[in-house]
Formats: sequence, C-alpha cells, structure tokens
Amino acid sequence: MAKKQFKTESKRLLDLMINSVYTNREIFLRELISNASDALDKRYFKSLTENSSLTRGELEIRLEPNKENRTLVISDNGIGMTKDELENNLGTIAKSGTRAFKQEHADDEKMSEDMDVIGQFGVGFYSAFMVAKKITVLSRADGSEEAWLWESEGLDGYTVEPAEKDSVGTVITLYLKDNTDDENYDEFLETYTLRGLVRKYSDYIRYPIKMMIETSRLKKDESDHDNDECECEHDHDECECEHDHDECECDECKEEKEPEYETVVEDTTLNSMVPLWRRNKAELTDEDYNQFYTDKFHDYEKPLCHIHYNTEGAISYNSILYIPSAAPYNLYSKNYKRGLQLYSNGVMIMESCEDLLPEFFGFVKGLVDSSDISLNISREMLQQSRQMRAIANGLKKKIKSELEKLRDNERETYEKFFKTFGLSIKYGIYESYGMEADFLSDLLMYESAKENRMITLKEYVEALNENQTEIYYACGSSLDELKRMPTLKYLLDKGYDVLLMPDNVDEFALKMMNGFEGKPFRSITDKELNISTEDEKKEVEQKQEENKELLEAVKEVLSGKVCAVRLTNKLSDAPAALVSDGPVSLEMEKVLSDLPNGSEVKAERALELNPEHPAFVSLKKAMENRAEDEEKFKIFVELLYDQATLLAGLKIEDPYEFAKRISLLMAK
Ligand code: ADP
Ligand code: MG
Repeated sequence: MAKKQFKTESKRLLDLMINSVYTNREIFLRELISNASDALDKRYFKSLTENSSLTRGELEIRLEPNKENRTLVISDNGIGMTKDELENNLGTIAKSGTRAFKQEHADDEKMSEDMDVIGQFGVGFYSAFMVAKKITVLSRADGSEEAWLWESEGLDGYTVEPAEKDSVGTVITLYLKDNTDDENYDEFLETYTLRGLVRKYSDYIRYPIKMMIETSRLKKDESDHDNDECECEHDHDECECEHDHDECECDECKEEKEPEYETVVEDTTLNSMVPLWRRNKAELTDEDYNQFYTDKFHDYEKPLCHIHYNTEGAISYNSILYIPSAAPYNLYSKNYKRGLQLYSNGVMIMESCEDLLPEFFGFVKGLVDSSDISLNISREMLQQSRQMRAIANGLKKKIKSELEKLRDNERETYEKFFKTFGLSIKYGIYESYGMEADFLSDLLMYESAKENRMITLKEYVEALNENQTEIYYACGSSLDELKRMPTLKYLLDKGYDVLLMPDNVDEFALKMMNGFEGKPFRSITDKELNISTEDEKKEVEQKQEENKELLEAVKEVLSGKVCAVRLTNKLSDAPAALVSDGPVSLEMEKVLSDLPNGSEVKAERALELNPEHPAFVSLKKAMENRAEDEEKFKIFVELLYDQATLLAGLKIEDPYEFAKRISLLMAK
C-alpha cells in the first residue's frame, strides 16, 4: 500500500514539532490523555444532543504498559475517528479537529456547561514521537461499523488501512524508542512513573484514567484456620501443647501463623478526577483543604489558612491558595522558587508559575486554573499576556484582603503569620523603593514597648494623644537590647509608646515609607525628637552653657570619633549615649557593615551625656584636676565613649585599649 505524505509543507515542520517545541518529553502522556478526554467529551456531548442512553460513567481512559513488547497503549471509548478524520487530524500538522468541533458548537449551551475541551493547536499528538519510534492508532468512530488503523514511524509519513475493532473508540499504541546510553525509555512502562505522571499532569481529567496494577495484599483466610483442615504434617499427639492450634509453639505451626501475602492485579483509577477548586465551597471542610495541601504541596504540616477564590468576568479563574505554617528554610535565599501551579482546564501547564505572585507574597502556595489564558503551542509556557497580569493582580489584592480579615478576626493566627512571614512584607516595602508601601503598610506589625504586644501602625496612630504628631520607633539587634535602651525608659515614663524594631531591614523599610496616615516616623535617638517641655529644654540649654569648657575638652579627647558632644535629659539612669546626627543611623551602619561585602558607610556620631549622673560629676572633677592628673580625665572620657558604644550595640574599636583603661583606673 502506497504511503501518503503528510500534508502541509512539512517533514521539517514535524521534525521541529518533535524535537524543538517541547523541552520535557514526559508531557506526551498529558497530551494523549487530554486528547482521549476530549474524545470522551465529544462522545458525551453527541449523546446529549441525540438523546442516547450513554452515561458519563461508561466513559474511561485506559493505560496498558507491556514490558515484553515495550509498548504503551492509551485507549479510550470516546468519539473515535473515521478514515477521513484520521487522515485530516493526525495526517495534518497543526490541524485540530477539537478546535473545529468547539467552534462548530460554540453557541450550544450544553457545550459550555458540560465540556472541558482541551485541544486547540493540533500538535499535541506528535509529542508522542518524542518517546515512540512507531505509533499506531486503531479507531472506530461513533455511529460507524468500520474501524481503521493509522500507522506512522514519524518523518516518513503514515498509512491508513481497514481494521477490526469491536467497540467505538481509539486505541493508541506507542512502540517505545530503543534505550540508549543517555536515554532510558523503559521508565514509561513502569507503574510508578505512569501513576506519577497522571497525578502530576492529569489528575483532574474528569473521566477515570484506569490501569491494571499489581499489588500484594494479605491473604484473607489466615485467621479462620481450622484444626481439622490443618495441613501441617507433624503429629499432634507428640506436640507438647494440647493442640489449640493458635497457641501451639512448634515450628511448623508457628510458620503457618506467619501472615501470607498474595499478589493480585487490580483495576485502579489513577486520577482523582474532581478538582477541589471546582467543588462547591459550602461542601468543603477545612479538613478537605488541609488534606489537599499536604498531598499536593509536599508539606507535612497543615497550612495556617487557605483562600479559595473563584472569579468570573473579563477573565475567569479558580484558585486555591495557602499560607504555610512555617517558612521554608530557603525562603530568603536566591534559590527559593516562588510560584503557583497553573492549570488550564484542569490540565497542569506549569508546576511553578512565578509571574502569578509578587515576590513579597512568595511564601504563598497554591494553584490557579483558568481556561482563559493563552498558552503557547507546547502548552509548557504561556504567551506573556495581559490575562496573566490580570490574574496576578487579582490574586495580589485577594491575598491582602484575606490577610486583613485574618488580622481583624483571628488575631492570634495573624500574629503567627506575621512572625513567620513579616520579613517578606518588610522586604517588599524596601525592595520596591516604597512603591508597595501604601499597599503593604496595613499588614505591618511591631512590638509596642508600652503594651508589650504586637500592634499595627494603625493601632499605634489611633492611640496617640493629640499633641503627638510623630510615630516613635527604636531600632536595634534584639527586643531585649531595645527594651534596655535608656532613652526608651525616658519616653515610657512620660507616657509615650515606642515601636520596637529588631529586624535588620526595619529601618531601611521605614526610610522607604512616607510615614503612615500622615504621621512621619521618628527615631527616639534623633536629636530632633521633641518631647521635652519648654522648661526642661531651657534647663538643658543652661547646663550646656555652664559646662561649655568641659564639653569642648571631651570633644577634643574624642576628636576624629565624634562630631558633637552635648548634654541631654533623656538618658534616665545611663551616663552617656551614642547617637547619629546624620541620615545614616548607627543601626544602619551596623547592618551595612555586617553585609558580606561589608560597606564602609559610617554614621555621624554624637556623644550625649547625662548631667544628672554621678559619672558626670566625677568627670567634672577630673576636668578640674586636670593639671595634676591629665591621664585620669582622658580615661574617663574614653570609658564613657566606650560604654555608650557598647550600649548602642556596636563593637568598641580597640578592646585591648579598653581593658588597659579599666586596669589603670583600678590602680589609681
Ligand atoms: P489538539 O488536541 O490540540 O486538537 P492534537 O495533535 O493533540 O491536537 O490532536 C489532533 C486531533 O486529532 C484532535 O483535535 C482530534 O480531532 C484528533 N484526535 C487525537 N486523539 C484523538 C482520540 N483519542 N480520539 C479522537 N480524536 C482524536
Ligand atoms: Mg491534543
């Protein structure tokens, strides 16, 4: 029989199809199963329009691997193909019988209700040539008595011959390619692999995908062992036991009691069929969602919460999103891969689609299913598209609003969320140069020094009394360190609240925010911090004037280290504090110099002294006695500077000199 040539220009095109369109050969199974599902849909649709008695339950897809022949059969009892259809649909590259079918019935209501048609490009079938050296398609069309066998070895073209088939449907046989040193095709004959591929790509095909699977199970008749029928050949009379067989300790009886397994072949459905996200929310329990999460997203801990979001409109999609209970160990490293699973009509297209989530919500897990997205021809990638941006935008807003609900209604869970993922939110503000600040600032929480609990910015602002126009904060390396800050005590005593910020990113994020609700942020170590009364201010000024000479002398000793030395009334019981007078705070300097490529950015340091502290009185005395003991004054100054440095959470420059100074002082 004469071979017919493939229509279209194109052995080259076919070659291209097989070798260049797909990067991942395992998707051939997804393509063939999707075709089978389309064929079943079409047959079901036809039965509806013809009022036949066919039910969905009769329709199925079947996989049959055969290790001896090295064949994999994918069959369905769908609509089948006539001789012409075999030629047109499989003989013409980029001809999709399915798309034509969809267009033909576009106006039919049943079409949208009951069908989930997948095919559209007319190339998926050829992906099978990635794994098969020869393919046969035996098909009998619904309503026809004839069957036909299509056969092809790829580039050579194909043949179509009359054949026999008892029932309607299509049987596709793949003759797997020979294994080579690099490539092993036998894996596609393994139950384990096939089951895995079905679960990965085709779990939500709405028809059962079945396979005969060998399993071993416990033999049933073990327990009701009957003495009379006992087949052990030992003489019961010699047996010490009085032959209650179950308690008999003799070897033979014991052996017989070992559980026995048998191998059985069971017809097994590989896919779970109903996508959770298409089920009615009202019927689903937390348990269902959690189970789905632990099954699908490789986490053994149940999620903190789930978001089930279906939307219709210009673009329709269903999604189920989860916030995990714990952060993956590599969340903040470069190799963390964020993304949602993307499905088109229930068939998985991408395992991890990055574009669907902004980086600051990168911890969210879940999936999106939409029939509206434009796929590229291999269905492995998407056409960069407006629709994708629309979905991403919708999800971003939805995630935020769900988090806000959590914040307002389930505070404890929200705090747990924020402890785990709050850093992502803060980084989101910083890394967007503040562009996302308005969007994200409602989600922020900080420890309130006054209330000893986490509060939101809004709560801070709402609790302000009229004359406080700024949001006070303190940055440091840990909450413990912050709580011991001398200035903090001063503010708390005066009745102010202060937000404590122990994360490295905190101050950098604040700099990117333009205050909150019209209130600017102010560090409590900022010299512009304006909380003293006029009288207090005057008093400090006066003392400053009185001690002018002393302060100058101190500055001289510390020359090159500080740009200013002054008095303050905000130090409670500490003698001295180091603060920054410039735009870079001490905390920022610390964070920057801790970076792997350590920066040299320095804060403009100023030393503030507490005139009420006994140490100040000693300093003054040392100053007066400078003529006799020049060294003592210097040591005092250096020590005050050193302790202020330590209290600011910084390292003292020269620990050796520091130790020497203390020893000298002890010897005096
Ligand atoms: P697509 O699925 O995008 O249409 P394919 O290359 O996968 O493209 O398939 C081409 C066409 O072959 C399908 O549109 C369909 O008309 C036909 N076809 C493929 N497999 C089957 C099948 N199992 N049963 C009936 N028709 C099929
Ligand atoms: Mg297809």
